[in-house]
Amino acid sequence: MDKEDCLFCKIVRKELDSEVVYEDNEVFAFEDINGRAPVHVLVVPRQHVANLEEVGELPDRVTKRLFEVASEVAERLGVTEDGYAVRINNGRDAGQEIFHLHLHVLGGKRLGMP
Ligand code: AMP
Ligand code: ZN
Repeated sequence: MDKEDCLFCKIVRKELDSEVVYEDNEVFAFEDINGRAPVHVLVVPRQHVANLEEVGELPDRVTKRLFEVASEVAERLGVTEDGYAVRINNGRDAGQEIFHLHLHVLGGKRLGMP
């Protein structure tokens, strides 16, 4: 997937609309268009990497920020106390649909495994 054609790159560049929850120079967070929980936010690096196999291409501080932003989003949306899940779908068997690495932040209801 070329980053010119990548849906999440287009969202990060604001060529496509999204409900922005957080943004800085490195990390972008927005509402999942098909929310599967009362809180369902996607946290992505601005830099295009497809999956965890490419995570080493991100600067270490960006990888760290992805997790910090997930925590900050949870706090802002009020699910820190009750808890939330941070999920990465990686590859076919996990159901990955968008090949731009993203963290799902899910909360507001009891979440099972898987
Ligand atoms: P994954 O299966 O981990 O690749 O998840 C991709 C997620 O992106 C799904 O939960 C979709 O609902 C979500 N999604 C797809 N298109 C959009 C969009 N245009 N804006 C926000 N979320 C989207
Ligand atoms: Zn991308």
